[in-house]
Amino acid sequence: MKITEKIHLLRLDFKINLNSQKQIERFVNSIIIFGEKITLIDTGTKDSAHHIFSYIKENSRDISDIEAVILSHSHPDHIGSAAEIKKVTECRILAHESEKNWIENIEAQVKERPVPAFFELVDKSVKIDKFLEHGLQVKVDEDVSLKIIHSPGHSKGSINIFLPEDKILFTADSIPIKNDIPNYDDFNDLMDSLHRIKSTQDYSILLTSWSPPLTDRKEIEIFLDEGESYLKVLDKTVKSIYIGEESEALEFCRKVILKLGLPDFYVNPIVDKAFKGHIK
Ligand SMILES: [Zn+2]
Repeated sequence: MKITEKIHLLRLDFKINLNSQKQIERFVNSIIIFGEKITLIDTGTKDSAHHIFSYIKENSRDISDIEAVILSHSHPDHIGSAAEIKKVTECRILAHESEKNWIENIEAQVKERPVPAFFELVDKSVKIDKFLEHGLQVKVDEDVSLKIIHSPGHSKGSINIFLPEDKILFTADSIPIKNDIPNYDDFNDLMDSLHRIKSTQDYSILLTSWSPPLTDRKEIEIFLDEGESYLKVLDKTVKSIYIGEESEALEFCRKVILKLGLPDFYVNPIVDKAFKGHIK
């Protein structure tokens, strides 16, 4: 999907096999910047490389033009095809330094964050060639530059990317979707990042990993308010339930999910860890 002449958004669908009976359907967005060279932001899961390559070819470009892949953070649905794309195109991989361990060592990532069927989403680690620190400006084409905004919360080294010439802000997984799986590393940092996004008015197009593009200011405000309200409801509920000792693992997590009427499969160690971050 064309956002501007040079900046395109590609929706990449994938499935997570929770167990032999249950499968959930998700999608993640990748951004493709068609300059003299091509820059990608995020790469979907391990099966996404051929979709990205096809899209580039459909736009009459050669995949060897891919010069750089920026990873918004280390989660499997963002880094899944990075190793394959690097192998085929010899592009550089860029990410925040705090994501280094989980991008360069996916075995460590799955041990610390046990996403179901993890290796069906990403099967290869990839080495980062350059770290992206907060405030860094990268010129990727004559009239396209990227400004890196460190936005911790969803993960320690999550970044948002601002494209000033086109007034586009890409927030990756920083804005929670109402009733979606509570999935963050640090609740307070996530709130701070969300408030920063809300207080910034210098963008007119909001791109995220898990929504269609938002171009209307009112629509953007509603989206941000819903994310914030959801976090506040989670915070209130977690703080009323996570009290004292659990008699069994995930007991409190199960109670929160039940109380909010959210799907059963949200009861898992990743959500439990996110919830425990509210009361630390
Ligand atoms: Zn993520």
